[in-house]
Amino acid sequence: MKKLLYIFLLLLIFVLAGCVGEYIEPINPETVPPTTTPSPTVTPPPTEGIQTPEKTPDPTPELTPTPDPASEPPPDFGYIDAHADTISRALLYNPANQSLYDNDFLHIDFKRLSQFDAPVQIFALWLPDAYVTTAFETTNNMITFFENEVEKHSDIIEIAHDLEDIRRIAGEGKISAILSIEGGEALEGKIENLDHFYNRGVRILGLTWNNENELGIGISTNSPNGLKPFGIEVIQRMDELGMILDISHLNEAGFWDAHNTSTRPYMASHSNAHAVMPHNRNLKDEQIIAIVESGGIIGFNMFPPFIAQNGGADMDDVSAHFRHFIQLGAGNHIGFGCDFDGISSTPEGIVDVLSLKTLEDFLSEEFDTETSFKIMQGNFYEFFKRYYEG
Ligand SMILES: [Zn+2]
Repeated sequence: MKKLLYIFLLLLIFVLAGCVGEYIEPINPETVPPTTTPSPTVTPPPTEGIQTPEKTPDPTPELTPTPDPASEPPPDFGYIDAHADTISRALLYNPANQSLYDNDFLHIDFKRLSQFDAPVQIFALWLPDAYVTTAFETTNNMITFFENEVEKHSDIIEIAHDLEDIRRIAGEGKISAILSIEGGEALEGKIENLDHFYNRGVRILGLTWNNENELGIGISTNSPNGLKPFGIEVIQRMDELGMILDISHLNEAGFWDAHNTSTRPYMASHSNAHAVMPHNRNLKDEQIIAIVESGGIIGFNMFPPFIAQNGGADMDDVSAHFRHFIQLGAGNHIGFGCDFDGISSTPEGIVDVLSLKTLEDFLSEEFDTETSFKIMQGNFYEFFKRYYEG
């Protein structure tokens, strides 16, 4: 009986096992439904080179706001300077060597600029009187000359058109060059020529040089008159285009007309304090205060006759101007507009653009490192932010 019972049980087990086998579905990889939680052993491929740490959940948008370039710390430029006549000096005054890369005839060349981190240099297009009758054409030729020089050395320098460009170029460790026109003669009285130069990359315009022109009256005349109707029209169009107004060289009446017309922060690219050195190229206290109120900026000029009496100047004389600006409440609105390659002499200890390194150390000792940084570059960077980003 026991034997029969065992045989019966064994048969029962085989039958049951066979039935169970019928209900086990084969696993077909292509029909496996996706699981809602990824297997921890599956590593997703990296996306665009961005490595996501394993098992780190994707951050929610609330936790990672879109980076705002305006709130990011600025790159270290080394320096920002608002005025140099390097282009005019190389092209119009030195036929023997017109290179902007390596040129001992100049205060500034690209080779020396490349010794700073990522400097921002505003290059002026200035014309001697002899070229006034061909001002539009000559200014265009100067732009073409500069574009060619920059193109030859595009690995170290680029023309910047706005703050975004400045940030990008500095991020690449290169020199930013900004084009300005010094003297509205270049417009030859036509508003469409302003748009023309904007389209060619010019981003700053000084309305006059020392003389009278179609826009207004420079400081070399004794005229009580200020800007002419064309000068007013030009400022209005500049504000629309986003072309920075430069009031250096304007006479006082013209300055106030410009101040009352402009709706955007503006600059005195290369002017000093009249209270320290009473020269008609320098700014009176009420003008300095008006520039500050506009959100504007003043670039300090290295020409000794604008700095101190008797034609010479030393570092203490330079410092006296900065002290005065700071006392007036313009400490956040001053930088450099050295006027390199536009001046026939410099203060003791200043030889060329590389002297700005010495000057930075001097200002750190004379004031403090924060003030020195602001004068060297920080204030100009903040000015560009106010101008371009409001
Ligand atoms: Zn000038």
